[in-house]
Amino acid sequence: MREFSVRSEILEFDPYTPGLTIEQIQQQYGLDTVIKLASNENPLGVSPVVQKTVANNADRAFRYPENHSPRLVKEISKHVGVPAESILVGNGSDEIIDMLFRMKARPGKSNVVCYENCFSMYRMCAKLAGVEYREVARGENFELPLDKMAEAADENTAMVIVTSPDNPTGVAAGVEDLSVLAGVLPEDCLLVVDEAYIDFVWPPESYTPVQAYDKFDNLVVLRTFSKAYGLAGLRVGYGILPPKLASLMKNARIPFTVNLLAEDAAVAALNDEVFYNETLQLVMRGREYFMEELPKLGCKVWPSQANFLMFQPPKPAQTVFKALLKKGVIVRPLASFGLGKLIRVNVGTDHENKEFIKRLGEVLGA
Ligand SMILES: *Cc1c(COP(=O)(O)O)cnc(C)c1O
Repeated sequence: MREFSVRSEILEFDPYTPGLTIEQIQQQYGLDTVIKLASNENPLGVSPVVQKTVANNADRAFRYPENHSPRLVKEISKHVGVPAESILVGNGSDEIIDMLFRMKARPGKSNVVCYENCFSMYRMCAKLAGVEYREVARGENFELPLDKMAEAADENTAMVIVTSPDNPTGVAAGVEDLSVLAGVLPEDCLLVVDEAYIDFVWPPESYTPVQAYDKFDNLVVLRTFSKAYGLAGLRVGYGILPPKLASLMKNARIPFTVNLLAEDAAVAALNDEVFYNETLQLVMRGREYFMEELPKLGCKVWPSQANFLMFQPPKPAQTVFKALLKKGVIVRPLASFGLGKLIRVNVGTDHENKEFIKRLGEVLGA
């Protein structure tokens, strides 16, 4: 076989490490039921209203969708209170992240500033785009190092990226701190705030800068329908960007990446307040339950503003992870985040949460 040459950036590329699937674990361990608490998905599944919408629109799937998802943009604009021309809908917020790296940063010239042990998509996109990836150390208790990020930025920094609430720590940045950071960044540098888990913070006005959107001219906010809205499999997310930047990115993007049923589903999900509120209540209740129960099992646990928690078990994380798999519970060991002693678990249904704590107790011999 011939070996073809490729761009040097993709030789020995570290691929994204997704959570294991229920089917993989059912097959491997011969289990009937498996509880997945590994990918921060919605424990309530897909809202019945959304399911009906998708079914009712299945017969339209032979048509191309409308480019740039204008119906969804209009709904987001209404719900979030930002102008439609600032909104860019993507195939998951991952697509918007990828577009930002390819369209804002310049290969071989720009750098991007993140902090250590963060969401791996940023590093992947930087590498593929030929952009220098600068990683700043976190605080001792995983505080987000916003001051150090500002110091690390220079005239070639295209973006500073903050995940808030953070994955995998659950730590959220306060809106004042984000405002200060936005104000001190170099002239050509964007502050990108990845708000994949913003729905789970309380109170929202203390955390999201979107509510004062007019005050910023260098702010990008990323949001997704994959977590609180329960649509991870349909792939819809969006960015809120300075309007000129949004317009240029629309011109250069690949058309139709957001499919027709995903747009219908996201519009329906935004309007389904009942399901959304049930999700938030369940997550907040589960978070408290985990905060109470995990220390009883000898685990160190960090308070979280997201739909998951990070904890350190009293036994090696990889051993605990494997033992839980055998008992039919999938959690997320954080070695791929560079945190080999820690595990992330997302809130499930009340029943799943109880089962997780029970089986973890068995594993830890508590
Ligand atoms: C889940 C997640 C996303 C969202 O990904 P989608 O592509 O919208 O599914 C983005 N950022 C972080 C930090 C996440 O954890």
